[in-house]
Amino acid sequence: EPVPPDEPARRLAAQGVQLVQLVYADVLGVQKGLTLPVLQAGAAWAGGVRVDGASLEGFIRVEEREMRLRAGGEEVFVLPWTPAEARVAAVPAAIDTRDGRPFDGCPRERLLRAVRRLDELGVAVELAFEMEFYLLRRRRGRPEVRVPDRAGYLDLSVRDAGEPVRQEIALALEGMGIVVESVHHAVGPAQHEIDLGWQPPVAAADHLMVAKRAVYAVAERHGMHATFLPKPRTGSHGSGLHVRMRVRPLPGAAWSRPAVTRHWLAGLLHHARSLCAVTNPLVNSYKRLVPGFEAPVYVVWGRDTHAPLARLVAGWEAGELEWRAPDPCCHPYLALAALLRAGADGIERRLEPPPPLEENVFELDPAEIAARGLEPLPGSLGEALDDMRVSGLIRDALGEYLFTRYLEAKRMEWDIYRVQVHQWELDQYLPVF
Ligand code: GLU
Ligand code: MG
Repeated sequence: EPVPPDEPARRLAAQGVQLVQLVYADVLGVQKGLTLPVLQAGAAWAGGVRVDGASLEGFIRVEEREMRLRAGGEEVFVLPWTPAEARVAAVPAAIDTRDGRPFDGCPRERLLRAVRRLDELGVAVELAFEMEFYLLRRRRGRPEVRVPDRAGYLDLSVRDAGEPVRQEIALALEGMGIVVESVHHAVGPAQHEIDLGWQPPVAAADHLMVAKRAVYAVAERHGMHATFLPKPRTGSHGSGLHVRMRVRPLPGAAWSRPAVTRHWLAGLLHHARSLCAVTNPLVNSYKRLVPGFEAPVYVVWGRDTHAPLARLVAGWEAGELEWRAPDPCCHPYLALAALLRAGADGIERRLEPPPPLEENVFELDPAEIAARGLEPLPGSLGEALDDMRVSGLIRDALGEYLFTRYLEAKRMEWDIYRVQVHQWELDQYLPVF
C-alpha cells in the first residue's frame, strides 16, 4: 500500500477523498486549479507542486518560468457534488516562486500582507459577505435572462423555482464547514442572497471562492444557470457583494474601538473611487451602480441612509460597518487586500469621516449635491480605471506585479467594449437618424 507522504493527504484519503484540487484565483479573479490523485497530494503541503508559470498569469503570457502551487493552509473543502467514486477536496492554494519563496504576484499572498500590516498597526478585522446572484433557466443549453420566478424580497413562493436550489446550496456549504448565516430570495425576480458567516480576511476570501463554485455546481445539477453578473437584467436589481466588517483594536493597542472604526470608515471613504476598479471589475458592474435599485451611487454613509456606500450597523463601539459597493465578480483576494489597505490608511493617518448623510441622496438636486461636495462613484469601468491608475494605495495593496497586469487587462477589456455598437443604439437611432 502506498502511504501518503504527510498528514493532510492521509486524512483526506481516509475520508474517502480521491482527488485533491489546488485552487487559486488568477490575475482577474477567475478560479483555476490543478488536480492531483490524493496519494500524490502530499507534496501540496510539503513545498508545493510545479506548474508552468506562464499559465498563472491569466491571459497575459509574458514570462515562461516555473512556479509552485502550495496548499495555503490547513482548511480543505470536500465538494459534496462531486461523485463518491471521484470525490474532490478543494484546497485554496498559494503561488510560490520556483525556489519556494512567496510570489509577489500571488493574490492570496497580497491579502496576507494586508492582514500582517493591520496586525502591525494593532488592529484586527473580521469579514462577512452578503452574496447575491440570479438563478436563470436555460433554453437549448443557453441561459435565458427571462426570469423563472416573479418572487421578491424574502418571498416564499411555490413559484420560486430557485428555492430548492438556494436551500441545497446552503446545506452544501454548511457540510463543507462554510458557515451560512441565512439565505433568502432577494429583491429582483429570480435573485437570491446567501449571507456567509464571520471570518478572518483570508478565510473569508477562501470561503467565497468555494461558495461561488457551490452556487454554480448546485444550480447546474438542477438544470439552472447561476450568474453573479452584477446587472444581468435591465430594470431589475443588480447583484452586490456587500462586505460586512468588524474592526477592533488588538489588546494593548493604542486605539479605542470607536476611534478605530471611525478612522477605518474614513479611510475607505477617502479611497472609495479608486477602490471601485478592484471591487467592481466588469463593464457590467457600473450598470448596477445607478439610482433606483438600492445600489450605492454616491460616496455617502449613514445608519439608515437610503442606498449608502457605507452603513454603520450599530454604534461606533460595536465597530461594525457594511461596505456596499463591491459586486460578486470582484477578485476576492485583491478586493479585500485593497479594502484592508484603505481602512489601515485611515487609521495610520487618523482620518475622520465626513458627517453622515441623513437624507435620500436621490432626492437632492444637482446643485445641492455639489454644494455638499458629495462625490459620485465612477460611472464606468473606464473612469474607475483612471482613478485606480493614479492611486498609490491600490498600487501598494496589489503590488507592482498584479497592479500592472490587472490594469493592462482591464484597460484592454474596456477598450474592446468601448468600440462595440450595441443593440440599444441600433434600436434607438437607426429608425431616426
Ligand atoms: N442588490 C442591491 C445591490 O445591488 C442591494 C439590495 C440590498 O441591500 O440587499 O447592492
Ligand atoms: Mg446588505
